[in-house]
Amino acid sequence: MTNLLDLDCQALAAFFAERGERPFRAKQVSRWVHQRFIDDVTAMTDLGKPLREFLAAGAIIRGPQVIRDTIAADGTRKWLLDAGSGNAVESVYIPEPDRGTLCISSQAGCALDCAFCSTGKQGFNRNLTTGEIIGQLWHANRTLLADGATGPWIRHGRAPITNVVMMGMGEPLANFDNVVPALTSMLDDNAYGLSRRRVTLSTSGIVPMIDRLRDECPVALAVSLHAGNNTLRDRLVPINRKHPLSELMAACLRYLERAPRDFVTFEYVMLAAVNDEPQHARELIDLVRDVPCKFNLIPFNPFPGTEFHTSSRAKIVAFQQRLSDAGLVTTIRKTRGDDIDAACGQLAGQVQDRTKRRLATRIAPAVAH
Ligand code: SAH
Ligand code: SF4
Repeated sequence: MTNLLDLDCQALAAFFAERGERPFRAKQVSRWVHQRFIDDVTAMTDLGKPLREFLAAGAIIRGPQVIRDTIAADGTRKWLLDAGSGNAVESVYIPEPDRGTLCISSQAGCALDCAFCSTGKQGFNRNLTTGEIIGQLWHANRTLLADGATGPWIRHGRAPITNVVMMGMGEPLANFDNVVPALTSMLDDNAYGLSRRRVTLSTSGIVPMIDRLRDECPVALAVSLHAGNNTLRDRLVPINRKHPLSELMAACLRYLERAPRDFVTFEYVMLAAVNDEPQHARELIDLVRDVPCKFNLIPFNPFPGTEFHTSSRAKIVAFQQRLSDAGLVTTIRKTRGDDIDAACGQLAGQVQDRTKRRLATRIAPAVAH
């Protein structure tokens, strides 16, 4: 059985070409799947009966299995999705007055082991498939529509999710081969039709893969910087030992040659007495001198067992002021969905601390994929 969610538009075209169907069939089917969010292949009423029968025999549309669906007081909504073998990943919907953003996961766990990240502490379980990645977007749109989600853009006929950030669990560039077809579907006019500017991929800085993304599917880029010198970054973001800051900055400049936006977003998690002092701001200002960029300061989200503490609000604001004074546009990330632990870096904690044991006993035996 082929899960149609696993096929991007190119793969879908190949799927139909193999059985002598014309290419526009792929477009028709893609629209049914990714724009009308059906989950029954026989519901594609503009396909001839033989083709529907063929699909019914060999294809399914299977989205993620939801283990838990939580809605926060501010409307933020988090889905815990089964990833098999006792693993789970999360996607988070963040509604704003003018857009709906979905934060998507790319891996169950992560091998890169950043010091302050609870996904990293969980270790690496496996790469999500293309279907599991795009399935998060399919599922969110479908569920929000079914639940009557509101927003001016929805009233104008657009899907509930207008922006995607690959900032959930996992390092997307370490799962390049499955992530790029998912990105392709996000951008394709016969699927989600999002502009490249509305799709942001966040990476901890796998330099050769930043170059491949530039060549194969440039979308808006966010880079998790977290330190302005190699000694500290080696400790916080261990991939820095392989791809140090000078290489990372050069890769950002190369990326900008093809990027849909004319700046890179640098994410910077604020860790008390570790990277939040005036000298750290000065180092950053020096480091990014030649790189068109914006900064997003992320208050650290603590999780059980971590050695780190969140910087005080005053420290974060002072840090922001220093960067702003040097001409760097700097925002402080708003915490959303506080009451449901939906913020950056808290996602894996949910799986490990409360759910994983239950998953292993209750959910895993029922999972077929
Ligand atoms: N692996 C990618 C994307 C996922 S993490 C990356 O590292 O960029 C998304 C963002 O959340 C990254 O900037 C990451 O460094 C940050 N993050 C991880 N753990 C965090 C925590 N405990 N508190 C705040 N931000 C965290
Ligand atoms: Fe992986 Fe990103 Fe967490 Fe680092 S911060 S361990 S790259 S998910």
